[in-house]
Amino acid sequence: MANRVALVTGGNGGIGTEICRQLAAAGYRVVTTCFDAEKENVAEWQKELAAEGVQVDWVECDVADFDSCAEMAAEVADKFGPVDVLVNAAGITRDAFAHKMPQENWDAVIRTNLDSVFNVTRQFVETMRERGFGRIINIASVNGQTGQFGQANYSAAKAGMHGFTMALAKEGARKGITANTVSPGYIETAMTAAIPEEVRNSIVAQVPAGRMGRPPEIARTVVFLAADEAEYINGANIPVNGGLFTSF
Ligand code: NDP
Repeated sequence: MANRVALVTGGNGGIGTEICRQLAAAGYRVVTTCFDAEKENVAEWQKELAAEGVQVDWVECDVADFDSCAEMAAEVADKFGPVDVLVNAAGITRDAFAHKMPQENWDAVIRTNLDSVFNVTRQFVETMRERGFGRIINIASVNGQTGQFGQANYSAAKAGMHGFTMALAKEGARKGITANTVSPGYIETAMTAAIPEEVRNSIVAQVPAGRMGRPPEIARTVVFLAADEAEYINGANIPVNGGLFTSF
């Protein structure tokens, strides 16, 4: 994949880091957006990857903010050239039951998980069309497919993300662009470490695989979809959840 540029939002997160690792291993030039204003953390993260032989560059960006995404895209174009593969992996949770949910929890999750896919994708998809190639991979969630207690905001955002994916898939299909969603089940990252242990245990008890998923299992799916040869997979929502569906 020499010469192909991959941009990963949320690339320094638990799942994002593995996506960066595997894309780099597959030969992509990997760039991530980084939200963390404490750049020392990012520099440290970058250094750790470099020590493994993984080169990842980063550009600052708040995916919830359209103008910030436009600035990031200009910087990426300037430094790295056109983006071939876009992975929208940035996301947050702000859980609360719908009847108790503060509006700010709703707004934050919709802006960061759903508005973000438009804010970021809009910056790159036009050039992808002009160049006749693009791979857009959106990281949603099993909870966007099934709904989840305490996550009306997150479930709505992630379900909406796949609606966006399907529309993009249709719009880009004759321009060499594919758009697909990957919907992870429960994956071992900081996001799920924040779930109270007893709740986490009860979730694992429902997973036929009997364990949580691991970030490399999501990254593997992303690299598969990013390949030139994956052109006929378009508009799909691929569950990577240890068989969780079969237990509903
Ligand atoms: P992490 O919390 O480890 O990583 C989230 C990433 O998103 C971080 O890099 C974070 O940056 C970035 N981010 C958050 N807000 C913004 C913003 N406004 N602008 C730019 N970047 C932002 O989460 P995971 O790795 O677990 O999750 C990655 C994706 O996978 C998310 O979309 C999540 O919803 C989804 N997912 C995760 C599951 C899981 O079980 N872990 C299950 C299903 C889906 P920073 O660190 O700088 O704040």
